[in-house]
Amino acid sequence: MSGFRAILISREGEKGQKAELTTLTDADLMDGDVTVRVTHSTLNYKDGLVLTGKAPIVRRWPLIPGIDFAGEVEASGNPDFKTGDRVILNGWGVGETHHGGFAGKARVKGDWLIHCPDALSNAEAMAIGTAGYTAALCVLAVTDHGTTPQSGPVVVTGAAGGVGSTAIVLLAKLGFHVIASTGRASEADYLGALGADEIIDRSELSEPGRPLGKERWAAGVDSVGSHTLANLLAQTKYGGCVAACGLAQGMDLPASVAPFILRGVSLLGIDSVMAPKAKRIRAYDLLTANLDKAAIATMTTTIPLDDVIAAGADIIAGKVRGRIVVEVS
Ligand code: NDP
Repeated sequence: MSGFRAILISREGEKGQKAELTTLTDADLMDGDVTVRVTHSTLNYKDGLVLTGKAPIVRRWPLIPGIDFAGEVEASGNPDFKTGDRVILNGWGVGETHHGGFAGKARVKGDWLIHCPDALSNAEAMAIGTAGYTAALCVLAVTDHGTTPQSGPVVVTGAAGGVGSTAIVLLAKLGFHVIASTGRASEADYLGALGADEIIDRSELSEPGRPLGKERWAAGVDSVGSHTLANLLAQTKYGGCVAACGLAQGMDLPASVAPFILRGVSLLGIDSVMAPKAKRIRAYDLLTANLDKAAIATMTTTIPLDDVIAAGADIIAGKVRGRIVVEVS
């Protein structure tokens, strides 16, 4: 039985952990009806939390992390997939409770997979990854709410991160005036190249604010949470909405009900992990229609599997720009 390279996280002591690059075999894989030869994965904020042990996300030890992967089906007992099919996996607890994408092979339930759209290479699918697909879910939530470019600007927080970068490109392509909130003034050119019309410093939003402020935007896409989300809501126009998907600043929401009951503002919760297949396919349709190859390239840095553990610490330190693709094989 031939081996494949994998990152493995194991318990060290009662609460500690160690992450290492090792070699595993098919016998180490978990149950599933489809075995995939993984060609690419990607590094998301959640992967950073798992690799550094900064949050109790791992539910099974030892574990191959990596919440996303793209690759080719090697063997399938599932009628929807056959050997050679190109497939994508995002979420479903992979890289948390089930072995994930930072390995040469994965075995999963076929129900968790989608076919990779013809328009995307495996590397491009991972440049999108959970972060990009979540950005698409946020944009769909905002537009499904009835927000149009005529409604007013849309603010994107955590702008230079993975979710933020993709959300900016999608919103700009759809014709929205995009306000990018970032803590990294040095990324202004990058954000402008993605399609941001205005850039604001995230310190404008990250401190405790008033229950209601000046109405500045028709909608928001927030990957930051905490005071930032509270301020986003307080400064959303009458009848507007904010799609909330992240917690880069904090898990708390120190807000008042004022925006909801005085301005009819809606808070739209976004979960990518358990999102049903139909919603995923809609998100990928939006991505393939609006994310061109040049935009994907602008957002993406590629690293080998060997560099993933170090990059996990970087993403938690807020040092990563856009998306990181991991070349697995
Ligand atoms: P990234 O690390 O790529 O981006 C996060 C960005 O948030 C950073 O680049 C930075 O942007 C900003 N940021 C970081 N720390 C702070 C802080 N203390 N205060 C304010 N802003 C901060 O992560 P992703 O884009 O991959 O993920 C973003 C968030 O979305 C994470 O919390 C992640 O867990 C969550 N998420 C949730 C999903 C879901 O299903 N709900 C799916 C995917 C992600 P800048 O430098 O521009 O200020």
